[in-house]
Amino acid sequence: MSDCIFCKIIAGEIPSKKCYEDDEIIAFHDIHPVAPVHFLVVPKKHINSLMELEEADTPLVGRMLFKAQEIAKEQGCAEKGGRFILNAKKDGGQTIDHLHVHFIGGKTLGFKMC
Ligand code: 5GP
Ligand code: ZN
Repeated sequence: MSDCIFCKIIAGEIPSKKCYEDDEIIAFHDIHPVAPVHFLVVPKKHINSLMELEEADTPLVGRMLFKAQEIAKEQGCAEKGGRFILNAKKDGGQTIDHLHVHFIGGKTLGFKMC
């Protein structure tokens, strides 16, 4: 998608602080971290949101979650864990319309659902 910020990051047109990359997935630190550890795991394939997921993409989402927990461990969160977040569309607070998983950790987070 030509006007998608995350597609531009994937293409190397916008710089990012990468923490992982393979053929299908890229992970980079969030530009506005809300905790000491805050990175995003993003599929290279442009999918608008989880609400647009096709059944054929389910292995990809599994790999995104698997990589997210691997990177979280690398970033020092193995013992204490953290939060995996997937915002979807307007009511979910999604601001970038390219599927992504947030990982937030490095501090104890409060429990707040809305
Ligand atoms: P959303 O609200 O869509 O779930 O989260 C989008 C996230 O992308 C936000 O936390 C925001 O800070 C991050 N973000 C937006 N633009 C950029 C950018 O250009 N680079 C990086 N690294 N993160 C970005
Ligand atoms: Zn995109």
